[in-house]
Amino acid sequence: MSRYAVIGHPVSHSKSPIIHRLFAQQSGRSIDYSAIDVRPENLASFIRDFFRADGAGLNVTLPHKEAVHGLVDRLTVRARLAGAVNTCYPDDDHQVWGDNTDGVGLLRDLTINLGVPLAGKRILVLGAGGAVRGALGELLGQRPHSLTLANRTLARAQDLQLAFAERGAIQVSDYASLNATGFDVIINGTSMGLQGEVPPVSPALIGPNCCCYDMVYGNTDTAFVEWAKNHQAAIASDGLGMLVEQAAESYFIWKGIIPDTAPVISQLRAQS
Ligand code: NAP
Repeated sequence: MSRYAVIGHPVSHSKSPIIHRLFAQQSGRSIDYSAIDVRPENLASFIRDFFRADGAGLNVTLPHKEAVHGLVDRLTVRARLAGAVNTCYPDDDHQVWGDNTDGVGLLRDLTINLGVPLAGKRILVLGAGGAVRGALGELLGQRPHSLTLANRTLARAQDLQLAFAERGAIQVSDYASLNATGFDVIINGTSMGLQGEVPPVSPALIGPNCCCYDMVYGNTDTAFVEWAKNHQAAIASDGLGMLVEQAAESYFIWKGIIPDTAPVISQLRAQS
């Protein structure tokens, strides 16, 4: 049977094996998909050996996404733009490709699962790390009215502004000087939720009918989801749907089958 895996360090918390097993079950199949802890110093040799041994696909999670970007033979356009890889696969010439499905995962969760169109909307993104970089191309592609990027370290936001200049205009700010109000969509792409914290921004940012979206997810409401609910955001969602949608895009890349994500999201919610 073809081998698949998610690699990270640590990786035992990963929900990817269960998600891909649920996808496979939908078409009456099973999948050999494991979670493998790979130390950074072993990353290059692991990837080479995995695909030499006829591995069929890898997902990549923290802290390896940026490093794998520099280790694969070929990059898709969206992986090059994201500067990070979360999905690898071999082609017929045994070249290993790196792709990034995080951005499309976020986009599908927002626009399809939550029914939040982005065209013409005022979008605020908090954070300027790898996850945000992976999402900006997809967000700009929706032709929002404006996209504002705020980050603790302004220079990182400015780097992204420059990197995506050809895709669309981005306004940048640090949190203290963020003085616009009434956004339609606020995406928290910081990792602050892992510490139970929220970016230090005003609730006046939340406009009428605003969707507040946290890339972080958890068994209970994340701090940002709680903040959004407390300030009457019309929609407050964590990033579990993004996780399942990015996995679905990986599954499609590997198997040519688009899984039904809704029952998988429901099942994971029920288990948490
Ligand atoms: P990253 O590259 O380490 O970036 C972290 C971001 O959080 C940076 O913008 C950083 O600001 C900010 N930050 C961290 N601690 C902070 C603090 N105390 N105060 C203010 N800002 C702080 O991480 P990443 O890869 O982008 O991931 C971000 C989050 O998204 C992670 O929690 C990850 O689990 C989640 N994620 C979810 C999915 C999904 O499928 N749902 C996919 C990818 C990532 P500075 O630049 O100032 O340091």
